[in-house]
Amino acid sequence: MMPAIEDAPGPRVLQVCAEIFPLLKTGGLADVAGALPLALQPLGVDVRLLLPGFEPILRGLEAPVVVATLQPPGAMQAAHGARLLYGRLPACGLWGYVIDAPAYYRRDGAPYEERGDNHLRFALLGWTAAALAQGLDPFWRAELLHAHDWHAALAPAYLRAAEAAQHRRLAGCVYTVHNLAYQGMYGAHLFGELGLPGHFYSVQGLEFHGHVNFMKAGLHYADRISTVSPSYAREIQSPEQGCGLDGLLRSRTAALTGILNGVDTRVWDPATDAHLPAPYDGADLGGKATCKQALQAELGLAGDAHAPLLCVVSRLAEQKGLHLVLQALPRLVEAGAQFALLGSGDAWMEAAFREFAQARPRQVAVRLGYDEPFAHRLIAGSDLILVPSRYEPCGLTQLYGLRYGTLPVVRRVGGLADTVADTRLETLDGEATGFVFDAFDAEALCAAVRRALALHRRPADWALVQRRAMAQRWDWEGPARQYRQLYRHALH
Ligand code: ADP
Repeated sequence: MMPAIEDAPGPRVLQVCAEIFPLLKTGGLADVAGALPLALQPLGVDVRLLLPGFEPILRGLEAPVVVATLQPPGAMQAAHGARLLYGRLPACGLWGYVIDAPAYYRRDGAPYEERGDNHLRFALLGWTAAALAQGLDPFWRAELLHAHDWHAALAPAYLRAAEAAQHRRLAGCVYTVHNLAYQGMYGAHLFGELGLPGHFYSVQGLEFHGHVNFMKAGLHYADRISTVSPSYAREIQSPEQGCGLDGLLRSRTAALTGILNGVDTRVWDPATDAHLPAPYDGADLGGKATCKQALQAELGLAGDAHAPLLCVVSRLAEQKGLHLVLQALPRLVEAGAQFALLGSGDAWMEAAFREFAQARPRQVAVRLGYDEPFAHRLIAGSDLILVPSRYEPCGLTQLYGLRYGTLPVVRRVGGLADTVADTRLETLDGEATGFVFDAFDAEALCAAVRRALALHRRPADWALVQRRAMAQRWDWEGPARQYRQLYRHALH
């Protein structure tokens, strides 16, 4: 009997991205990069990674072998002689290529900090990906490039340039948008430094209002485009959320799909989470009460088991709508809620939250910085997690909230709208898993939290919604199947 197409061996796929959990993470992209390849492997997809050689990534590479010495084009002279390494990344459970170009990637500061050469640093990532589709590694040639976000977006451009030069198709290409707002834009005068054919600088290419736009290259040259939720896939085709690229996205609507991110259940599972003071699951929520008690003690909050504890784990950026939380907080605290935040980002917002916490240390706690174990303890120990984003491609913290029985209060946008079902009288016995509001203002957020607090005062109903939220499956198996299908479409 012929194997069904579902069961046929998967292709050789190179995942091209700039960060990966747990080695280097600035946001949800790293979580996806760390989890999706592992979910694809059992489906028969032969996955390897391509990553820039940032210090933490190089340190995580075990027994690397040198695959090739790189001679990239254009103005990437600083990377001439850079080594392409291959080895195992034990912390990720994956194998991958790492570009060891010290002049580009081994430096202090945040990974994407601009020092005048980001266009070259990330062009090198895209160029190397395309080279791996042309036999740079004689033992493994990528059949499909899966490039993530603007850092990897030149991979399809270099691939198409090589195909044009060689008059043959080399590989399929999928480009995934994790956040359309970060596009990688540079002055037109820098185009010549990339070593791409001159005609790629056009409206039908990388040109965007007189600038070079990396994201646009990904959207234009990939066979298929995906983004991280069905709602966001629709929203980015509108002028309001298209960040200037909605026209291009509309023209590619047949090639564009939304695939929700999953939860890496090896990392985020309250029954096995080593960061928690006590494990728990939907059948026995006793451990969650212990987590709350420990969290209140750790943060110096009043040790009140009945006080609803709201939390936020987030980048402090305009996108996340946390100024609405700042506006709503006095009223919510007045209503008896406690609040704890873990985040880092905009200085003014850090200062405002810190000031608020200092004024009410028994009810409000703020921890600034990036702290993975504390993120777990905070989500486990809280009753509600707030995600009031202006826009949200997928959002992961609301999914972690669902899994940890920490009910999400979210704005009805992007992946938040696709993953949380609002609690109303008519949904209480049906699909309710959290609280959803529409308007992007503090009143709407406040009203949603008040509804949540009202449910919290009814323990039996609260536990019903909590258990339903925890029973939902948000693992990577379903999304991985959808990606495999997307790869098939991109290849054929
Ligand atoms: P984004 O990618 O836009 O930042 P997501 O919700 O998709 O938003 O992913 C954010 C990821 O980063 C989640 O895994 C979240 O737990 C984590 N995170 C955000 N801020 C912090 C922080 N200060 N400390 C630890 N983890 C954080």
